[in-house]
Amino acid sequence: MKRAYNFNAGPSAMPEAVLKEAQAEFLNFADTGMSVIEISHRSKEYDALHQETKALLRELMGIPDDYHVLFCQGGGSTQFLMVAANFFSKKYAAYVNTGVWAGKAMKEAAFFGEAYEAASSADRNHSYIPESFTIRPETSYVHLTANNTIYGTEYQTFPHFDVPVVCDMSSDILSRRVNVADFDLIYAGAQKNLGPAGVTLAIVKDAFLQTARQNLPTMLKYQTFADKDSLFNTPPVFAIYMVNKTLHWIKNQGGVDAVAENNARKAKLIYDAIDESEGFYIGHADKDARSRMNITFNLRTPELEKAFLAEGKARGFVGIGGHRSVGGCRASAYNAVPMAHCQALADYMKEFAQNHQ
Ligand SMILES: *Cc1c(COP(=O)(O)O)cnc(C)c1O
Repeated sequence: MKRAYNFNAGPSAMPEAVLKEAQAEFLNFADTGMSVIEISHRSKEYDALHQETKALLRELMGIPDDYHVLFCQGGGSTQFLMVAANFFSKKYAAYVNTGVWAGKAMKEAAFFGEAYEAASSADRNHSYIPESFTIRPETSYVHLTANNTIYGTEYQTFPHFDVPVVCDMSSDILSRRVNVADFDLIYAGAQKNLGPAGVTLAIVKDAFLQTARQNLPTMLKYQTFADKDSLFNTPPVFAIYMVNKTLHWIKNQGGVDAVAENNARKAKLIYDAIDESEGFYIGHADKDARSRMNITFNLRTPELEKAFLAEGKARGFVGIGGHRSVGGCRASAYNAVPMAHCQALADYMKEFAQNHQ
C-alpha cells in the first residue's frame, strides 16, 4: 500500500508506527478482550492510560508541578470561549492579532468584556510577528497564537508581559521546546501535532486557575477538569489513547529537542527550494518569522499555481493548496511528516521551476 505525501494542515499526518500499533491492538486493548473504545473510562486499564498520558506530557514538555494538565473537548475554538469565560475578570483582555485564529479568539472574548488588540500584523497580511505591544492597565491577560497555521508565521521567541499570558499552541505544540513556566495557560487542539481531533490539551498554572471565575456552568470551568482529573464526564478516550501513542513516539525519536531539530531540517528543505528559486516561488512570511510547521508560498501567477497544485496532486502530494483565505500554496510539515516527504516536495518544486522558467 502506498501512503500519500501528506501535507494536510489539520487534521494531518500521524506517525505511521502509531497508526500500525493502534491497528494491531484495536480489538484487544491491554489484554481486556475489548477495544479501548469499548471499556469504561473508570476502568483500571483506562486509568493507567490516562495517568501515563499526563505523565508523558509532563516529562516531554517539562511541565512544572504547579501546573494542571487537562483534557478538554471542543477543540481550540472552545478554548477561545473558555479562556475568556474563566479569566476575563478585569476591564480588558489583550489579543495579539496575528491572523485568522487569533481573530476568532478575540471575537469570543468580546462576549465577556472589551477585548483589544495589543498588536496586529494585519497591515501586511499577517506575514510577520509584531515586536511591540500595548498593554493597557486593567488588562486580565494577553492572548498569543504561537504558530499561525494559515499564514505560516511563528514566534521564534516569546515576548514577556507583566500580565498573565495565555497561548494557543494548537499548531506547534511539542514541535519545539517552550518554557511552560513563561505561560499561565497553554492550550492546543490535538489534531495537528498530537493525535486525532477530539481532545484538547490545556495546561494551566494553579495560581492562575485560582483567579478564575467560579459562577460558570460546570463544563465551562477549568476548575471542574482540575478537580475531577478531566474525568467529570466521559473523556474522549480514543483521542487520548492516540495522543498517548504519539507521545511515546516523540520520546522514541529522542524527545522534543530531537523532534525540533528534525523539524528545522525538514522546513529548511522547503524554504531552501523557495529561496534558491530566484523568485519563482515567493515565500509569504518574513524570514525571521517563518513557521517550521506551515510553509506558505505563492507562484508568480495564479495559472502557475494551478499547474503546480495539479501536477503535485498527480504525484501524490496532498494538502499543498493554501487556505481559502490566503490562497497560494501551503505545506504543513508537522512532527509526523517524514523528512523524505519534505525532500520529495523540495525536489518536485525544483523540477517544476526548471520546467516552467
Ligand atoms: C486549527 C487551529 C485552531 C482551531 O482548532 P479547532 O480544534 O478546529 O477548533 C485554533 N488555533 C490554531 C492556531 C489552529 O491552528
